[in-house]
Amino acid sequence: MTTEATTGATSAGRRTGGCLCEAVRYETPWPPLLTGVCHCRHCQKQAGTAFSVLVAVPFASLERTGELTTYEDGSDSGNPVLRKFCGKCGSPVFSETPDGMAQGMIFIKAGTLDEVNDLAPTLHFWTSSAQPWVPIPEGAHKLAAQ
Ligand SMILES: [Zn+2]
Ligand SMILES: [Zn+2]
Repeated sequence: MTTEATTGATSAGRRTGGCLCEAVRYETPWPPLLTGVCHCRHCQKQAGTAFSVLVAVPFASLERTGELTTYEDGSDSGNPVLRKFCGKCGSPVFSETPDGMAQGMIFIKAGTLDEVNDLAPTLHFWTSSAQPWVPIPEGAHKLAAQ
């Protein structure tokens, strides 16, 4: 008999996460398709801080439990963004965009992952609205808009 993995442990190819109050939990394939930082004003407002760190994962193999509340946001590019958050504790958990969903991708707010130590964002979106005191690493791929 195999011993049971401890809660929150990363099994090969999967990673767990959830909101602050743990009403919403998920398990996602790992590693992600991409890891990026969004500096748009909408992410700054929603996160209540300077940017969002996002990991894109295949929507079809994401498992989730718990109730999410959806805010349909406009975004600076004019495309709708469905911002899904825990209605109990307010943690932003997922974002869905029409372009992303067409490619089978959903975005996870990376701070909700149980393990965050190895995140390596390579892409910075909306650097035109990045806060001036936030350094963007040399060599990172920057997009002024989305
Ligand atoms: Zn919650
Ligand atoms: Zn954003």
